Amino acid sequence: MYETFIGLEVHIHLLTKTKVFCGCRAAFGDEPNSNICPVCMGYPGVLPSLNKEAMRMGCTVARALNCRIPERTWFDRKQYFYPDMTKNYQISQFANPLGQEGWIEIEDRNISKRVRIRECHLEEDAGKMMHTGTVSLLDYNRAGVALLEIVTEPDMCSGEEAELFIQQLRRLVRYLGVCDGNMEEGSLRADANISINNAGSGLGKKVEIKNLNSSRFVRLGLNYERERQGVLLDEGKEIIQETRLWNENRDRTEVMRTKENANDYRYFPEPDLPVFIPDAAFIDSVEAGLVELPLERVRRFKRDWALNGDHADALCEEKALADYFEAALAAVITQTKGLLSDQDAAQKTANWILTDIKHLINREKQELSAIGALKLTPARLAAIISLTARGELSSKNAKQTAFAIMSEDKDAEVIIKEKGWAQISDPAIIGQALEKVYAAEQKTFKDARDAQAAGNAKRFTTLNAYLVGKLLAETHGRANPEIAGKLVAERMACSD
Ligand code: ADP
Ligand code: ZN
Ligand code: MG
Repeated sequence: MYETFIGLEVHIHLLTKTKVFCGCRAAFGDEPNSNICPVCMGYPGVLPSLNKEAMRMGCTVARALNCRIPERTWFDRKQYFYPDMTKNYQISQFANPLGQEGWIEIEDRNISKRVRIRECHLEEDAGKMMHTGTVSLLDYNRAGVALLEIVTEPDMCSGEEAELFIQQLRRLVRYLGVCDGNMEEGSLRADANISINNAGSGLGKKVEIKNLNSSRFVRLGLNYERERQGVLLDEGKEIIQETRLWNENRDRTEVMRTKENANDYRYFPEPDLPVFIPDAAFIDSVEAGLVELPLERVRRFKRDWALNGDHADALCEEKALADYFEAALAAVITQTKGLLSDQDAAQKTANWILTDIKHLINREKQELSAIGALKLTPARLAAIISLTARGELSSKNAKQTAFAIMSEDKDAEVIIKEKGWAQISDPAIIGQALEKVYAAEQKTFKDARDAQAAGNAKRFTTLNAYLVGKLLAETHGRANPEIAGKLVAERMACSD
């Protein structure tokens, strides 16, 4: 009965080496106040100068979000006093930001929607305050670090949609290589705005939940607010426009302050920085930074390889993972021509990566993004998959080969040869082993045949599996299980 409107303001730290208006190092975790200078500390008389790389990265995100980049863009001063900002104003963008009127599609198993992007603007971050007992400490290393703010229209209508937006935006900026997306370290933070109203009456009175540092809190905070505001409206009460905080210990939002108006900031064009006019070379460098975006890649994997949504999504979670998959798959397809369809090759490769390789990476306590440095390279994995498909390696030995490659750093073929793990498919050789098993298990062969003749399927299956197992053991696990099964059946039929 109530309609919900949600708009997000997401701040991302751009991965520039230096700050946005001075040459100080932009790094997380350095000795406090070691990366500061007169410019980012706001001494009188200093002049900022724009870090063009920050502008390039900002525009790359804007283009990936289908925004228009204006022919001229400039900075504005946002005046306010706070101890974490020594200048008493923040250099930001207000009147004509670098990216305008775009959109992004978000999609998963349950949600598929287009969210309009109002704008992207470049600004400087403030310092960091730490409160311990009765003292407050200030670290200005972060002051002046390049921050891109992405503002959506109020197009989302549930905590789940907002969570998906954050997750997919995070994936996108990581693909573009412009932000590490590390929410715990504050590289990506969100303010979430929500209002509810009687259906058809348009936007309601907005409440802002500030400084959310996990996509889960975005979902929980918004759904809590939707509930809280619904109860207020049910009771005929008014919703107060205010800023709230998510209290993760009590699972609820709490009032922080009633909202100031935008014009309290007395924005005016920053006089110390020239207007930025992107030229053709700059636009080229922006376009060059655009890669195939994650959602496009997910869709391509589903379309070209018939992978299901969950598999395609998991493979595209990290660009390095998707790159690894495609490199391995190309080799598997070449090596299994005429044996596997492209779709089967893709499914087998996907299964390996999403189970065994992920497991190996976990075991090595590595990040998924480090998959490119794995000793089990795409070519080596492809060899394992192809040898298995050709019947030259059992699936059990395939896993062992993968483990051995990780510790010995050798190609699959070398490992298999050294360890004698090649699968035996020659019926003559398996037949010799079978005769040994037969000599020792003659009675079991007869019992199995009798059970089959008597229609005792359960007993037959047990005995048959036992015999096949014996035969595999006799060949040290190297016999092709399919052929071993066939030979056991034949031997049973002519046992006496
Ligand atoms: P403010 O001036 O208070 O910062 P803006 O108009 O700039 O507000 O919007 C900030 C964010 O809040 C945007 O993401 C926008 O989509 C969202 N928003 C604005 N009004 C509403 C509303 N009534 N309900 C929900 N979200 C809103
Ligand atoms: Zn500086
Ligand atoms: Mg605003």
